[in-house]
Amino acid sequence: MRDISFFQRILHLGDSWKVTSLDCDEETKTIRIRVEFVRGSKFLCQNCSQLSSSVYDHREREWRHLNIFEYRCYLVGDIPRIECSRCGIVRQVKIPWSEPYMRYTQSFMDYILVLLTKMSIKEVEEVAGINWKTVESILECAVKRGLGRRDLSGITHIGVDEISRRRGHKYFTLVYDLLKERVIWVGKDRTKETLPEFFDFMGKERLERIKIVCCDMWDPYLHAIGKYIPKATVVFDKFHVRKLINEALDRVRRQEQRKLQEDNIPLLKKTRYIFLKNPENLTERQEMTFDELQKHQLKTLRAYNLKELFRYIWDFTSVESAREYFNKWFWKATHSRIDTHG
Ligand SMILES: [Zn+2]
Repeated sequence: MRDISFFQRILHLGDSWKVTSLDCDEETKTIRIRVEFVRGSKFLCQNCSQLSSSVYDHREREWRHLNIFEYRCYLVGDIPRIECSRCGIVRQVKIPWSEPYMRYTQSFMDYILVLLTKMSIKEVEEVAGINWKTVESILECAVKRGLGRRDLSGITHIGVDEISRRRGHKYFTLVYDLLKERVIWVGKDRTKETLPEFFDFMGKERLERIKIVCCDMWDPYLHAIGKYIPKATVVFDKFHVRKLINEALDRVRRQEQRKLQEDNIPLLKKTRYIFLKNPENLTERQEMTFDELQKHQLKTLRAYNLKELFRYIWDFTSVESAREYFNKWFWKATHSRIDTHG
């Protein structure tokens, strides 16, 4: 009995619902928490929020909840359906722990959404033990809920990012309000129509307030921003800039390695990660190889130095000094006679 009141307390079910029993299955590592409505409670129609106390019938339902230690946890209950006097339809009552038609509690869905901001859908599937259909339905539910609640006035800084189904596969496009740190829009894919769709949805008046857009250097993005909010400043994500520089460096290394290979000099073989890593993260062995490479006149080393010099740009706190530094770096890079396109 004490367990029941404990769960009653931590589940926050509201006044109309109570926990009546707990069932723990050791074999399947599952806990089922049975909930029941308190007799005499009034219910809200989930469609129009009209109050009603006349129950039409009950349906057994189950919601996946957050795990308790390594146990999967479910809320189970005979949930009343009411005939709404306003809508005239028989529907399940509004329940405080989930959304209509969802088979997961709000807490479980929030947990999945947090995971999705940190990892790919594939990884979320593994960590949470759910499949991508589930992930997708949770995302869609969150979008619907977000659409109903969000206040889009006064948004000045937005960020555009993607969720990937698997590493390297683009799946959803998310637009964030960077100052309030919340998702304000979700596009179902990432095509050149995606961002214009968001801009159309925002409308002219709201778009005029947007001052900063943070995104990657994808042409269709830049094109859409230039067309819809030409006055906004575009900020490229540090991560994307670094990626471009690393890719250029890797092209130089491969090109040079091919050339050396022709003369049977295996100097740059298996050195890819030595150049891509930050010097402070090299293993002892990699450090030794790197010291050895320094003794040679390599184009890759010059490109590597440019990459390392670029890192300081993130440390500036004044725009003027950063610009001056960048211009110097740019001059050096463009006069280095290193071809990064090979
Ligand atoms: Zn109704």
